[in-house]
Amino acid sequence: MLGSLQLLQPTTVGEASSALRDFSERGKIYAGGAELLLLMRHGFLQAEILVDVKKIERLHRITSDDSVLCVGACVTHRTLEADPLVREHAPSFAYAESQVANVRVRNQGTLGGNLCFNDPHSDPGTVLLVHNASVTLGSQRGERKLQLNDFFLDVYETALEPDELMLDVQIPPLPVGMTSAYRRLHRFQRPTLGVAAALKMNDGIIAESRLAVGCVGPKAQRLGELETKINGNSISDAKQILAEQKSYLRDLLRPVDDLLGSADYKLYMTGVLLGDALDRAERGR
Ligand SMILES: Cc1cc2nc3c(=O)[nH]c(=O)nc-3n(C[C@H](O)[C@H](O)[C@H](O)COP(=O)(O)OP(=O)(O)OC[C@H]3O[C@@H](n4cnc5c(N)ncnc54)[C@H](O)[C@@H]3O)c2cc1C
Repeated sequence: MLGSLQLLQPTTVGEASSALRDFSERGKIYAGGAELLLLMRHGFLQAEILVDVKKIERLHRITSDDSVLCVGACVTHRTLEADPLVREHAPSFAYAESQVANVRVRNQGTLGGNLCFNDPHSDPGTVLLVHNASVTLGSQRGERKLQLNDFFLDVYETALEPDELMLDVQIPPLPVGMTSAYRRLHRFQRPTLGVAAALKMNDGIIAESRLAVGCVGPKAQRLGELETKINGNSISDAKQILAEQKSYLRDLLRPVDDLLGSADYKLYMTGVLLGDALDRAERGR
């Protein structure tokens, strides 16, 4: 059961930020509440004041400027899976959004809530990494922009300062000729494993690649070294290279044994899903 709570509904970033500063540990940002209310109900998190950021108009916008898609932090997963602009600009991201949980959670949960909570078992962040996405954070002190890669720090840990909120996410297009795919494995609603691949092919050879893996370790990560290794190879040679990279993947991803599977199983399936994602990215889906 939840105790009594005060609900604040600021309409500007400055008001929300000063409420966070004034109430400190007693105040928490509340967007869809899909995670927050669950944690509070189970007693894992205490708060007296909820700072509901959904009245801030900017946080609901989806716009395209200079071909970069800008998604407000309070846009829901359900909107993102169906929005025509998002589907055209970043089809693998829209697909990943359609795979989140179930329609109830997708209607309630927001992109900002998902990225700021930084649960390792999440979908959107992995695909956003192959788009080289960045996030804008705001407070009374102004705004700053960070690469998503630098925003994710560790399990449930991000670069957000205590008085900051996420305002929006910028998603650049993939380079011309590059196509992508997202693959996930799940036993329950949350993913056990998610991988994203983007490829630019030239005469059957990988001219440029981007790879990312989520859920296996503490945070979603790009596989920069592996990208360099598979560039200049055919898809079948690239899969062979992937199969030989167990120790690189183990050191980078730091997989753990948990209820979703052993570390060895997750590493093995990372190779399988990456291979599958390469095939699908080549076919453009
Ligand atoms: C049953 C279930 C199944 C799920 N399955 C999946 C899945 O398959 N894939 C997946 O990716 N996710 C999954 N999730 C997670 C879900 O996507 C996230 O819970 C949701 O997106 C969180 O968004 P929210 O708006 O509800 O955040 P809230 O619960 O409101 O907030 C979550 C956290 O983020 C902070 N926060 C929220 N918005 C901001 C902001 N703008 N700036 C700064 N901090 C902010 C809050 O203070 C809080 O700490 C699942 C969740 C549930 C409950």
